[in-house]
Amino acid sequence: MNIINPSNGRIIENLKEDDLNSVHKKLVHLRATQKVWSTRTVKERLAVIEKFGELVKQNREELAQILTSETGKPIRQARGEVMGSLNRITHLKSIAEKWLSEEQIVKEGGTLESIRYEPLGVIANISAWNFPYNVGYNVFLYALVAGNGVFYKPSEYATMTGLKFKTLLEEAGLPEGLFEVVIGKGDVGQLLLEEDIDGYFFTGSYKTGVHIAKEVASKLVPVQLELGGKDPLYVMDDVPDIKVAAANAAEGAFYNNGQSCCAVERLYVHEKIYDEFVSYFVDEVKGYMVGDPLQENTFIGPLTREPQIQVIIDQVKDAVDKGAQLVLGGDRVEGSGYYMAPTILTNVNHDMDVMRDESFGPIIGIQKVASDEEALELMNDTEYGLTAAAFSVNEARANNLLEKVNVGTVYWNCCDRVSPFVPWSGRKNSGLGATLSYMGIRAFTQPKAYHIRK
Ligand code: NAD
Repeated sequence: MNIINPSNGRIIENLKEDDLNSVHKKLVHLRATQKVWSTRTVKERLAVIEKFGELVKQNREELAQILTSETGKPIRQARGEVMGSLNRITHLKSIAEKWLSEEQIVKEGGTLESIRYEPLGVIANISAWNFPYNVGYNVFLYALVAGNGVFYKPSEYATMTGLKFKTLLEEAGLPEGLFEVVIGKGDVGQLLLEEDIDGYFFTGSYKTGVHIAKEVASKLVPVQLELGGKDPLYVMDDVPDIKVAAANAAEGAFYNNGQSCCAVERLYVHEKIYDEFVSYFVDEVKGYMVGDPLQENTFIGPLTREPQIQVIIDQVKDAVDKGAQLVLGGDRVEGSGYYMAPTILTNVNHDMDVMRDESFGPIIGIQKVASDEEALELMNDTEYGLTAAAFSVNEARANNLLEKVNVGTVYWNCCDRVSPFVPWSGRKNSGLGATLSYMGIRAFTQPKAYHIRK
């Protein structure tokens, strides 16, 4: 499998793909190692993960360079991701022992009733490329600490990063064979669905997620899906500083080239401030440096996947045909590499694909609304349900709207962020189950009830 640098289209590595035979062998190894790992204390498992975190810090620059070379993520954002995701380890250290310990529920006379949390066994972690550290850590660190073995399927667009995880985990003291990587595209991922595995934890598109859930349904093992979004942000007319609101909204839409599951993908702005907001927003985006992701000041690099450029161009054409105004960008940037110009559309509505389908790129539609009620109706008019945001000076007003939005995460005066301390979950086509928080630890366990009579 060729690994391609999206900033110039050149092959940077050629890796041997896994096949049925190698997948089988790795699974046998995983099963044997997991049995031993599950007998280690939570403290011992945490010590390995902590050491892994230290190695990540020591190797920060090399890891960031690998990430940039295979995904095109601007180098500063790559460094930010490598370091930022270490907060998962801090979180695990602070609460894993509590949530993995036996719970005594009833003690009556000579009878004891308690719950123990056993690992699931060997789990499949089928992952995405857009934030390979964050979305990988959300699953495999938590799974390992809970006593599981991990069959890690990195995205074919972030495989070198995935292989680095294995090297560093083993250097940190993880038993060899407890974290196995399978290399390949969707057809290799498919091999995992046919194996005898104890849980499937997937991050990626709705289409693949549904396929996986159907394929493994008869196994009756846990399936968790972290899927896409079409996340709205509503800017109310009472924001104290329209320019600041526009800058924050633009960052939410264009950070990582818009390739975030929780990127702002729809903007609704109150009519009283609409023109001023749009003007500041366009100025802000015009200021973004587009270019080589290895340059320190680049904010917009290439897209990771070349075909996504056409998806975005098609959304622009559909919107303009239906009456939208293209105020910035709209086309591919000439030259080698998968560059798309940052694109802003105004006068959009919900008949347009750009306001309905996940764009996953540097494009945003801005729609004018007359009231909070209209904004709320539009925010909920979607198949997705990952996150939603409101900018307002008035907490009660923002809350009144956010409590009625059918999503897993809401933001007041912020957007496009994830914290390990609260659950990360999507509703509707955005997913099933939750990672992070204490729920994200328990997700990798199965309860066993003990009834003990002494
Ligand atoms: P994708 O669905 O194309 O691929 C995801 C993974 O599934 C890859 O590793 C791929 O090789 C594998 N795969 C593909 N077909 C398979 C099959 N038949 N069997 C098993 N595995 C298979 O998604 P992507 O392009 O990597 O990721 C982008 C999507 O992920 C976007 O929709 C984004 O919103 C979503 N995402 C969601 C979250 C979240 O936390 N909710 C986080 C990051 C990305």
